[in-house]
Amino acid sequence: MSYQKPIPLKTPDNSPYWDAADRHELHLQKCNSCQAYSHPPGPACAKCGSTDLSWEKIGSEITGTLYSYVVSYRPFLPGFQDDLPLTIAIVELDQVPSVKLIGNILDSDPEQLKIGMPLRMVWEDITEERALPQWKLA
Ligand SMILES: [Zn+2]
Repeated sequence: MSYQKPIPLKTPDNSPYWDAADRHELHLQKCNSCQAYSHPPGPACAKCGSTDLSWEKIGSEITGTLYSYVVSYRPFLPGFQDDLPLTIAIVELDQVPSVKLIGNILDSDPEQLKIGMPLRMVWEDITEERALPQWKLA
């Protein structure tokens, strides 16, 4: 069965992020002026406005801490009806605590979730070319 959910669109600003994700690697945009990481990526640093930006490889083994989450019991987009309830989490990265990523927590019971619990990133291959960073309980 083909993947029915929306696939994140690559733009000039975010394509290095998604290209890395497709290789199961996390890369983050970093400002060369103030050294801040910028996520989601954009044309300029969210902190100082500099356009002197580069990309840094963080790695493939990513862990984080559950910062916040919502549980959806109703499909709000096509393709999600088989995944309910769906947990949408904001996860603070252990490697880069200033960065929070949004993703789904897979194979989890919402009743088990607690703010501050450890998570690990998994790479969900959604098509032959594309992969999404998602989370599982550590
Ligand atoms: Zn900056």
